Amino acid sequence: MLIVCPGCGVPCPSLGLEPDRKANASGECRALMHELSYYTLAHGDPRFIHQHLVDAYGAQHVRQSKSTIGAAFALAGLYLAVEHRFTGRQVQQMHMAMASKSKHWPRFDPPPEVGPLTVADVLAVEPGPDRDEKLMQWCASAWGDWSAQHDRVREMVGRYL
Ligand SMILES: [Zn+2]
Repeated sequence: MLIVCPGCGVPCPSLGLEPDRKANASGECRALMHELSYYTLAHGDPRFIHQHLVDAYGAQHVRQSKSTIGAAFALAGLYLAVEHRFTGRQVQQMHMAMASKSKHWPRFDPPPEVGPLTVADVLAVEPGPDRDEKLMQWCASAWGDWSAQHDRVREMVGRYL
């Protein structure tokens, strides 16, 4: 049996895992995220590529919620990584600067569809430079999902650049 993730739509063979409702993800998709996290967190690259994983995954798993910071920060991170070539470390610093200046963030409603790339496509690539490259392609794909909101994101982040 295949379980389809409610966030990113990735189909995974059922492992009988509980869905992660807070993350708007199937348990099987969360397991892929955790597996890729072991890789990105152990990477040792000072650019801190793990941040790109967090943002791309977050942008593909936005759930309806009162809190707006999750989607806003994921989209800010993708925008800076894809259009400004920020490293993960630089994105992290920008998130901190934004968080210190405001508690109120615009609401971004998720697009009807995301993809084609998901966490599964990155994990399918051999560890190393090719996987890191795929991670950045995934960021570009996830940023593209939100094309209807690009101007609002640029405006939100622009004041901090
Ligand atoms: Zn998913």
